[in-house]
Amino acid sequence: MTYDAIIIGIGGMGSAAAWHLAKRGQRVLGLERFDIPHAMGSSHGVNRIIRLPYYEDPAYVPLLRRAYENWRALEAASGERVLFTFGSLDAGPEQGEIFPGALASAELHGLAYEALTGAQINARFPGYNLPAGTRGIFQPEGGFVMSERAIIAHVRAAQAAGAEIHARERVLGWEAKPRGEGVTVTTEHGRYEAARLILSAGAWMADLVPSLVRLAVPERQVLAWLQPTAPALFTPERFPVFNLEVEEGRYYGFPVWDIPGFKFGRYHHRGETGPAETQRREVDAEDEALLRAFAARYFPEGNGPTMGLRACLFTNTPDEHFILDRLPEHPQVVVASPCSGHGYKFCSVVGEILADLASGDGTTPHDIGFLSLDRLQTR
Ligand SMILES: Cc1cc2nc3c(=O)[nH]c(=O)nc-3n(C[C@H](O)[C@H](O)[C@H](O)COP(=O)(O)OP(=O)(O)OC[C@H]3O[C@@H](n4cnc5c(N)ncnc54)[C@H](O)[C@@H]3O)c2cc1C
Repeated sequence: MTYDAIIIGIGGMGSAAAWHLAKRGQRVLGLERFDIPHAMGSSHGVNRIIRLPYYEDPAYVPLLRRAYENWRALEAASGERVLFTFGSLDAGPEQGEIFPGALASAELHGLAYEALTGAQINARFPGYNLPAGTRGIFQPEGGFVMSERAIIAHVRAAQAAGAEIHARERVLGWEAKPRGEGVTVTTEHGRYEAARLILSAGAWMADLVPSLVRLAVPERQVLAWLQPTAPALFTPERFPVFNLEVEEGRYYGFPVWDIPGFKFGRYHHRGETGPAETQRREVDAEDEALLRAFAARYFPEGNGPTMGLRACLFTNTPDEHFILDRLPEHPQVVVASPCSGHGYKFCSVVGEILADLASGDGTTPHDIGFLSLDRLQTR
């Protein structure tokens, strides 16, 4: 059988693309090397932050608004709640990166927000113990997406719309036919043909597109869950998700949810980069000590017994913005590398964009010019 589209990698992005393509009546084959879901890639560990004030670049805000709509549409289609909003806090020094960036994007896009001092944050959300001089943007629509459950919800909705998904079938290679006329994909179990191909292989992207080896670089991260000593301060109602810039670096965190611990991590944890296959999946005492030192200083009542520690992979581009584009030499092939540590929240809109790029005339009404491949290749 020939498919309209094959998707390589059914993680966060690929599962969303499968649903959006299938509900448009496209014949879809999704190929995943591990299970659905699994804990070897970038999307495991219960949940991921979603927030509207976007210090990384305000150009993401229109995509985020659509992401919120699409998360709710997924909930309606799947019957499963995946998006929880209790508020977000983007905080750091007044002249740092996070606070002024979040403030500027909130102003530019007319978002509801409150600008708070460190003392106000500590008084209102007493799990926090931020230094004097900290400034923060509290935004009421922030929260988290249940990342593993959302992969399942996307796959179930895609299957209900007719998509075929194969787990535990690793893709060994793909070939584009000349003049944009389709692709052949070879796996451990067979060969498949399709008109279009989506590469959403996360940390393994460069195995499938070697020219991306320096543009999509895997990096080991570690997540911690610590049991709070004052649990009432770490409930979602009293503890917004955060992005926080402090002298030790940039960190993010969540209220207690599912696993009984305050969850947090440090961006670019210990700077361990390299091919996905070479990244250590076990967690050691140095990982834990680094994260505990942060909790002890800024969230002292969140620094109780360890409930869990897990390694996970970022895939970083040089400017830490996503890649969402068709390959110039093969326009029937779409690449999606929306990670650099902040991509999950966008899965629901990225799935729609990938469906646009891999069907019809291959264009999307969403403004994704700032995520093009050529911005990186012309550097
Ligand atoms: C610790 C951590 C914390 C994060 N926190 C946040 C956050 O709070 N908010 C946020 O928005 N984002 C966050 N992110 C980023 C976000 O999780 C990623 O952007 C997102 O998970 C990327 O999804 P993906 O589909 O690209 O990758 P994945 O979900 O990993 O999917 C890629 C899939 O491709 C499969 N695959 C690869 N090669 C092959 C092959 N040859 N054949 C078949 N299948 C293949 C893999 O097995 C995998 O399932 C975080 C990431 C990490 C690691």
